[in-house]
Amino acid sequence: MRHTVGVRVVFATAELSPVVTVGGLAAAAAGLVGSLRHSGVHVDVLLPDYGGVDLDAIETIELDVPQWAGPASIKVVDHPEIGRIHLVVAPGLARSHPYLQPDGQGWLDNVDRFLRFSRAVAAYVELSHPDVVHLNDWHTAAALAALESPPPTVLSLHNLAHQGHGPGEWLERIGPRAAHFEWWGGINPLSGAIALADRIVAVSPHHAIEITTPSGGFGLDAALRARGSAVSGILNGIDTTVWDPASDPHLPAHFDRKNLSGKERCRQALLQHVGLNDDGSLLATVVTRLTDQKGIDLLMPSIAMLADLPMQLIVLGSGDRSLVDALVQAEGASDRFAFIEGYDETLSHLMFAGADLFVMPSRFEPCGLTQMQAMRYGTIPIVTPVGGLVDTVPDIDVDARRGYGIVARSPDPVAIMSALHRASRRFGQRRLDTVRKRIMAHDWSWDAPAARYRALYDEIS
Ligand code: ADP
Repeated sequence: MRHTVGVRVVFATAELSPVVTVGGLAAAAAGLVGSLRHSGVHVDVLLPDYGGVDLDAIETIELDVPQWAGPASIKVVDHPEIGRIHLVVAPGLARSHPYLQPDGQGWLDNVDRFLRFSRAVAAYVELSHPDVVHLNDWHTAAALAALESPPPTVLSLHNLAHQGHGPGEWLERIGPRAAHFEWWGGINPLSGAIALADRIVAVSPHHAIEITTPSGGFGLDAALRARGSAVSGILNGIDTTVWDPASDPHLPAHFDRKNLSGKERCRQALLQHVGLNDDGSLLATVVTRLTDQKGIDLLMPSIAMLADLPMQLIVLGSGDRSLVDALVQAEGASDRFAFIEGYDETLSHLMFAGADLFVMPSRFEPCGLTQMQAMRYGTIPIVTPVGGLVDTVPDIDVDARRGYGIVARSPDPVAIMSALHRASRRFGQRRLDTVRKRIMAHDWSWDAPAARYRALYDEIS
């Protein structure tokens, strides 16, 4: 065991905020890399060059890869916000969106593209001999097929729903340890890396348990159970400099836990922005991708019953057409509900700051960032009992003095409606300040998670 200051890590990811952001992976990669570097760990962060990063290369590194994966090279750039990045250039990586065609379907060659990226990561590891390799999700997982005796390796699982299944022919190409990547005759990059990595990390402790069960493992539960204590969970953090109600440039007024008056001004600004009248009831918000995972359909019956709660609700989201249509229809039927379609960074900050309550009806949630962002802004979360929501939101009715929010019994419409009723009883007349101050005092930064990752690097290197 040794101290991680000076340890050299190759960290490979398909997303990195603010360069390429699709989901929580981007924020997690940026937050962890930033915090590790800050504490003295040397991190080479490898990201596909999707095009569109207009920065001069300070160095170009040619990579030795087989013909199917090349030619491949690395363009080293210094990004003004994130610092040094190793952009991997390989055939097929440069695209308008990392994963999706303009019509919303995945690129047909996504498996080929990320197997090439993974092969380039392996080549860079062979060249640079780091102390630790840190892989993230399936896009990077097959690097372990090409490395016969790799450095100690950590695999972080941000979303097990995506595994990179592909045709079996790939097994002949990806490298000497390809046999571990075979999956019912095809290739499954994630299952191979789960078998071979020294440590496997889910992005929350509760999700680390869920994924070892048949109902939460996305088919990989047996593979994960086989790894025993190599599997653990480390909760993600959030960037508390970006998410800071005392200085957030997106807000019309600032506040902190000692002086919450600016929060009321944000509430008024939000109501006005979406065209709702302030009727003095609790204001709840949702900020989400509109996909099956996020469970907005489970909230629909409650939207129809808002007058009974009583509560006002605003949803900001983009995604599946059928969910968008249902929300547009619901908006027409209620004067207590507003729906804003789209991905809107600025409005999202006001949605966290101006609300009393933040609702997450997720079916599954590996970690979830929005509940932490909400709590940072003194907005009380109402969540389902899944994944990282369990680790971050102790129920206030279980422990009134230490609770942070309301946890529904299960991810279903009746339980969610009953959780909203519970919130309305407990926080009616907007008696919120005690809990607001409590949740705002919590440190949601990357400091503690990064320290846990450093301890893990220590353990294996
Ligand atoms: P996931 O990665 O599964 O989408 P997370 O909760 O981990 O969910 O992270 C989602 C991130 O994207 C959060 O920072 C959230 O604020 C942001 N986000 C999601 N939907 C929107 C939207 N419609 N507009 C603005 N920001 C959004």
